[in-house]
Amino acid sequence: MSRGFAEAVVTRNPDDYIEVPPDALVRTSGQLWKLIVGTIAIPLPTLFLGLGFLGRIGPDQPRSEVVGSIGILFLAAASVGTLLSSVRCPSCRDPWVRRLMKEPDGLRAVSRFLRMRACPLCNHGASAGENPSA
Ligand SMILES: [Zn+2]
Repeated sequence: MSRGFAEAVVTRNPDDYIEVPPDALVRTSGQLWKLIVGTIAIPLPTLFLGLGFLGRIGPDQPRSEVVGSIGILFLAAASVGTLLSSVRCPSCRDPWVRRLMKEPDGLRAVSRFLRMRACPLCNHGASAGENPSA
């Protein structure tokens, strides 16, 4: 009776959901926080701020407030860009997130990236003995 469920678990494609395993390279290299801050901690409050800003826009709004709000939005976008592009291979400095943005298959590429255990360029993070370049 639970066969259907078991089959679903076995056959599900790991590329279809997001998880960061404990031994994922982005976690072991100590850069997971950059992804969390760059994709959630800054963008979400910025989105609410932006929506609030759009709701207040009007002819009686002081110019300084408009300039300030736009400045904050630009600053947030710049911080996210800087933070995400600083997620790099600790060994060869390959910019992983920038590489990821060139991937054509979106969410699946993100999922693969979060699970990767070795740098796609230099194989950093692969356990000794499994390194083909050694
Ligand atoms: Zn590398």
